[in-house]
Amino acid sequence: MSRRPLVAANWKMYKTPSEAAEFVRELLPLLGESGRADVVLAPPFPALEAVARILSGTQIGLSGQDLYWEDEGAFTGQVSGRMLAAVGCGYVIIGHSERRQFFGETDETVARKVDAAYRNGLTPIVCAGETLEQREAGETECTLLRQLNGGLGSLSADRARTLVLAYEPVWAIGTGRTATPEIAGEAHALIRNWLSRRFEGAAEEIRILYGGSVKPDNARALFSIPDIDGGLIGGASLKADSFAAIVAAAKA
Ligand code: PEP
Repeated sequence: MSRRPLVAANWKMYKTPSEAAEFVRELLPLLGESGRADVVLAPPFPALEAVARILSGTQIGLSGQDLYWEDEGAFTGQVSGRMLAAVGCGYVIIGHSERRQFFGETDETVARKVDAAYRNGLTPIVCAGETLEQREAGETECTLLRQLNGGLGSLSADRARTLVLAYEPVWAIGTGRTATPEIAGEAHALIRNWLSRRFEGAAEEIRILYGGSVKPDNARALFSIPDIDGGLIGGASLKADSFAAIVAAAKA
């Protein structure tokens, strides 16, 4: 089965609403025809509305970078899936390694957030990946399996059909050190295998993105691996020409 590639831009804590709006106006003409790849932008929360206004009427999706698992309540500082959907988001990133590393995200909170995303009509982009220490200790496989079982173990196959996963080796995020296509391909095959055991036929519909120092000059080789269905892009998504070149590589 052929899955349509997806390229998502994670802007992390960069760009004010006006900077984000200006950036999207510069980016749109560079992206060319939509259709052969889905494109999703994940600005910081305060910029979502400004970006949503510019994206309206385009095929480009909007994503939150995180959400809280309750829909509303006395949870100072949190943003719910209901709020993301109301502002125009169709996607939400869950379990990014920076959330796991700095903000106490666990597999259990990932599972609760995935449920909240589906409940609010959002497509979760769920991140999983091993640290350098885990890779060097030969723990890549068990780390990935633990994250998948913990975060997605109770998901129904019906919901899983629209799920997006992102394999993001922590040692490759923001470091300029990219996984080789072989290393990424092995991890993606392992994830696809777990998805097939867990969700049977639905597994073939689930897109698995690679994330970790994807740049215009390595994107094509990574995206040519059969189980790599696009990318989650951090640093290189902050410049319009480099992000557009990565989207072009996914369409090729
Ligand atoms: C990310 O933040 O998800 C990411 C992959 O970052 P970078 O592309 O900068 O490594």
